[in-house]
Amino acid sequence: MAGLSAPPAIVVLGRSALGTARRIQAACPGALVHGLQSRLGDEADRGFVQLTEHLQALYARGTPIVALCAAGIVIRCIAPMLSNKGAEPPVLAVAEDGSAVVPLLGGLAGVNVLARRIAQALSVTPAITTSGELRFGTCLLNPPDGYVLADLEQGKHFVSDLLAGESVRIDGDAPWLDEARIAQGDGARLTIRITPASAAARRDELVIHPRSIVAAVSGDGAVTAEIVTAALAEQGLAPSSLAVLLAPRSRGADPAIDAAARALGVALRFGPDDAVEPERLLAQSLDVGHEVRIAENRNVALGIAAAPVDAERIGRPRGRLTVVGLGPGCAGLMAPDARAALDEASDVLGYETYVNMAGPFKPGQRLHCTDNREELQRARHAFELACEGRQVVVVSSGDPGVFAMASAVFEALDTGGDGRWRAVDLRIVPGVSAAMATAAKAGAPLGHDFCILSLSDNLKPWSIIEKRLEHAAAADLVMAFYNPISRARPWQLDRALEIVRGHRDPGTCVVLGRDIGRPGESLTTTTLGALQSTQVDMRTMVIVGSSTTRTIAGGPNGEWVYTPRWYEG
Ligand code: SAH
Repeated sequence: MAGLSAPPAIVVLGRSALGTARRIQAACPGALVHGLQSRLGDEADRGFVQLTEHLQALYARGTPIVALCAAGIVIRCIAPMLSNKGAEPPVLAVAEDGSAVVPLLGGLAGVNVLARRIAQALSVTPAITTSGELRFGTCLLNPPDGYVLADLEQGKHFVSDLLAGESVRIDGDAPWLDEARIAQGDGARLTIRITPASAAARRDELVIHPRSIVAAVSGDGAVTAEIVTAALAEQGLAPSSLAVLLAPRSRGADPAIDAAARALGVALRFGPDDAVEPERLLAQSLDVGHEVRIAENRNVALGIAAAPVDAERIGRPRGRLTVVGLGPGCAGLMAPDARAALDEASDVLGYETYVNMAGPFKPGQRLHCTDNREELQRARHAFELACEGRQVVVVSSGDPGVFAMASAVFEALDTGGDGRWRAVDLRIVPGVSAAMATAAKAGAPLGHDFCILSLSDNLKPWSIIEKRLEHAAAADLVMAFYNPISRARPWQLDRALEIVRGHRDPGTCVVLGRDIGRPGESLTTTTLGALQSTQVDMRTMVIVGSSTTRTIAGGPNGEWVYTPRWYEG
């Protein structure tokens, strides 16, 4: 089947279309249903406010669109975008009862493929109007994954000749064309040539390049997209036949390799050994027979396979370690980047409670749950897995940089491991921290200068905590206490409050947030004078207001707590 770019956005305007939308979704992996917010509320996967704007934004981003409404509506919405040059994503109108599937735009981006897939799911015949497609049963100008058309303009001429009734000779391996309704003959004037060679196509030829070339680079030597392109040109090979940039494992941390692969638009994979000759790297990593050509500068070796290569089966990807914050607990407060990292993860590591919060997981994703105290060990384990080329996610609640795993990961990197750990693609995805989540429930107690303190003396001496409390209280900062109390630390909170009470009025506002964003969440507003440490446990966030923090009537709790942005006088 011809390749489709991204999963489509299935756009619905009303509840009556939702059933059809879900059937289409089931046939299109990764597709989301986008619903008009005023009519569907949160019944869709994504909401939008205004149809024209939404369709235009999707189109501009190149997202395939399946709109469950009249074709005319879609045409009017998209029309102003059509004069813009640039990629044209597939756009389809589907009758909301599923009785008609009408491909409108994106012939070269696979709209008919998508139309057929959707029509099959809805048990109807798609309204395909493209003549080449009708005649041949496939779009010759949109070859399947692994093949790229050499020249679109030339291809259009070729297809019109073919439509005039000529037969064609196929030179090379194009298995999908065997199913097409094209008359083939060895003596035909027209030729479809499948080749990685870059020679210009003649008028009577359709040249399709298989993505069958792997460019292996050496362990040292400069690597840029230009160098690889020059090596291909030198060998008379088409740049669009390049499928993979393959590097020795020792170059895993080299940003130039990453940049080159991105500029070339190909997958980046790594071989099993550190520094080896590029041609040896090819032999180690390519399991299919291939011809090798060495570039003049000897830094690049080109492996040409007999058929398109599957990048996933060559060496390993660059290992990735992403430390994500889940937010306080509910899905709505998790950043989309965190969700995306979790969805793409091969391995998820963390404290069991947090790993459970990070689901749903897909079959095949490996979960590594550990005790909350084993942070450094977990970080090291994460690096080791990433070094094997796995896509590793370490989870923290709230923000991973606030008394959580991000620092543990850097401590591990700073104090141990080897060069391989530095080759790992390390990323941190922030999250909504407990102080922010609690503050938002209460109103805006952190609306002016504030500080965040952990009252745990597990990893720092208690004397430092006391000193910081003194200074923060004297500076009239709002204070957010993390890890306020635990069974092993029973007296520390009382002592902390004693210090704060030395500087602040008993009437000072205090907010207690327990399990915010999780089942059984509770929010309490009290005062510094009335606060008892028995009201607090390790799942509680304590926010002590400044001299200006105040309450006003309203809000879900009967009063809002906020700190004005100004001081009197
Ligand atoms: N990285 C986390 C904090 C970890 S420290 C974050 O950014 O939120 C653990 C402490 O955070 C707990 O002892 C508690 O004080 C606070 N906490 C974490 N999640 C909470 C929640 N959902 N509600 C209230 N407090 C929470």
